[in-house]
Amino acid sequence: MKEQLTIALSKGRILKETLPLLAAANIVPAEDIFSSRKLIFDTNHSHIKLVVIRATDVPTYVEYGGADMGVAGKDVLMEHGGAGLYEPLDLEIAKCRLMVAGMKDAAPVEGRMKVATKFVNVTKEYFARQGAQVDIIKLYGAMELAPIMGLADRIVDIVDTGNTLRANGLEPMEHIADISSRFVVGQPSMKMKYRQIQPILDQLAEAIVAKREGGQA
Ligand code: AMP
Repeated sequence: MKEQLTIALSKGRILKETLPLLAAANIVPAEDIFSSRKLIFDTNHSHIKLVVIRATDVPTYVEYGGADMGVAGKDVLMEHGGAGLYEPLDLEIAKCRLMVAGMKDAAPVEGRMKVATKFVNVTKEYFARQGAQVDIIKLYGAMELAPIMGLADRIVDIVDTGNTLRANGLEPMEHIADISSRFVVGQPSMKMKYRQIQPILDQLAEAIVAKREGGQA
């Protein structure tokens, strides 16, 4: 009998791009995830289940073995730190950039800069590497508002088209990292369930290449 495998998927925009890739690797949920309030889904394989959770919880579930594998944005993985996880595949989906942004044409900050973000660890590390001491203000959403309201001088946030920044009078200033979604595997799961996990990784890798070569990446 095959051992049970659980894949943790990030809710939201990543999920829409993840499901076609999983389908191309022949893993298909038994029902429509988007019209259901369930958290756990059976698939076309009796030994594979999907759980759909907040993106920031995916690395935690996989690290502690609550799920064997998962799909999470590189931003979330960088912030988590990656402990206990292997990151064997770049799924090349949900691409965006992690950037420092501020009010358009903002003057250089004198003294200690205030930076609002939900990526506290990444931000700390980024400015520390530059030898800059900054005050970090943790926010959970609508980062763009912080400089407008005078709460912060800069923000560190995800930028895709840049429309959200522009619409609020902000502009991107410094590039921290290119982001895409990654497939992660818990280290104990990789060791103990390798024979079942490896074919999934192989099929996903093929699906990624096929998508890239199909020009849709
Ligand atoms: P945009 O206006 O296209 O630059 O999109 C910016 C907003 O969309 C950001 O504030 C993010 O919260 C969100 N966003 C864009 N791309 C992603 C992504 N790949 N993953 C998660 N959030 C994203």
